[in-house]
Amino acid sequence: MPMPLPLLLLDLDNTLVDRDAAFRAAVADFLAEHALPAHDAEWLMTVDAGGYTPRAEVARAVHARYGERAPGRAVRDLLDRGAADRVVLSGPVRGALARALTAGWTLVIVTNGRTAQQETKIRTTGLDALVHGWVVSEAVGHKKPAPEIFHAAAATVGAGLDGAWVIGDSPHADIAGAAGIGARSVWHPDRPRHRGRHRLGRRRPRVRGTRHFPSAASIT
Ligand SMILES: [Mg+2]
Repeated sequence: MPMPLPLLLLDLDNTLVDRDAAFRAAVADFLAEHALPAHDAEWLMTVDAGGYTPRAEVARAVHARYGERAPGRAVRDLLDRGAADRVVLSGPVRGALARALTAGWTLVIVTNGRTAQQETKIRTTGLDALVHGWVVSEAVGHKKPAPEIFHAAAATVGAGLDGAWVIGDSPHADIAGAAGIGARSVWHPDRPRHRGRHRLGRRRPRVRGTRHFPSAASIT
């Protein structure tokens, strides 16, 4: 019997794409369009917390700070589409994915978030043509680190989780999620607040550097 192809489960936000840079650009446009202080970008990025703060909570904070100067529709657009419309796939990440494909990995994106927003990111960056599949937490009803979302990811490509790897930036969602399904993982920390909070297991792959996904993908 042929050996099944190994499964590489990839986080999306701040792993494959720089979601925070995209959201920061959207915030700058929003503040400029509504004649709000440009230096409030830092405040809004802090409230946003890398997208982890519930959107309704961010909207309330924005309305509380700016009142009628921040129209409801503009705030909704910022939070619903701001990052999704601006994310890009960098050349090095595209190259790393191409090498992983050539090496025989099966690539599936596993992402927490809203389906419309995450699929917009996947399609506008062209990731849909580079990976074998994806799962979004809203669509499957489970968020990382729950094992169910990883099982759903494997099911999209008809694979099992034996021998699977997980790459992601969140110790809680990605690395703990990998541990929960017995998969090996590569932690790809891109925000200093994550550093030092969790220890990786001993079965760590060869990684030339952890800051950028392309080097994390050197496990191929
Ligand atoms: Mg992430």
